[in-house]
Amino acid sequence: MAKILAITNQKGGVGKTTTGVNLAASLAAANQRILLVDLDPQGNATMGSGIDKRGLGATVYHVLLGARSITEVRARSASGEYDLIPANRELAGAEVEMVDIERRETRLKEALARVERDYDFILIDCPPALNLLTVNGLTAAHAVMIPMQCEYYALEGLSDLVATIKKVRGHLNPGLHIEGLLRTMYDPRNTLAQQVSAQLIEHFGDKVYRTVIPRNVRLAEAPSFGVPALKFDKNSKGAQAYIALAGEMLNRTSQAA
Ligand code: ATP
Ligand code: MG
Repeated sequence: MAKILAITNQKGGVGKTTTGVNLAASLAAANQRILLVDLDPQGNATMGSGIDKRGLGATVYHVLLGARSITEVRARSASGEYDLIPANRELAGAEVEMVDIERRETRLKEALARVERDYDFILIDCPPALNLLTVNGLTAAHAVMIPMQCEYYALEGLSDLVATIKKVRGHLNPGLHIEGLLRTMYDPRNTLAQQVSAQLIEHFGDKVYRTVIPRNVRLAEAPSFGVPALKFDKNSKGAQAYIALAGEMLNRTSQAA
């Protein structure tokens, strides 16, 4: 059965999608069967996986509304060697259109139940908001991965996210927990980053991944070619960091088993 992780942080631009795409590709390179779910109307994970979001007849939007089954919209990222549930801007309407739907928070969970057996990991790339889409992601997941930049307001934003996780745990998904916090775009020479990083470890201890993702231009360039960094420049610091993260996750999982 797949381990389902929601990659979440309501703060924009912290590296959620970069993590989704590159971790998916790195886990796939380690012979794991991976599904990446794009749950963001921006469709960045879709484009970054080499699938043009503009030409899609059916996306995760249709799955959430019950118009298509998940197997009908499932696509293959040839560049990343993983499966993808794509998204595009149509998904922005889902929040409003789902208001009248029953069990609207559990739509994604129910859809994923049909394909869970096909994968070792399912990664959900959430939008930068604590909205119904994110609640669907958190309800469908076993655990949450939180990418964050070690900046001044980072910890403040975390408390809202932790509160949302607690709420979802109380009402919809009792087993939900924080899998790990990932330091992204990290610059070790920046004193503030060091301080925030130290605070993070103080608060969250072992939940903070040892692997740190450095700021690396290859990670920013690869999406415009629709490939993960490991296919673009495997030896780049960015690609290597995500390969290391995949290794750390697999180690943790095997130790927990
Ligand atoms: P959003 O909240 O809008 O969905 P996000 O949290 O998914 O954003 P990304 O899209 O992954 O964040 O990253 C934001 C920008 O920073 C992108 O242009 C991305 O290419 C770049 N970026 C992400 N991680 C790194 C990194 N480690 N080094 C350099 N650039 C990065
Ligand atoms: Mg994103």
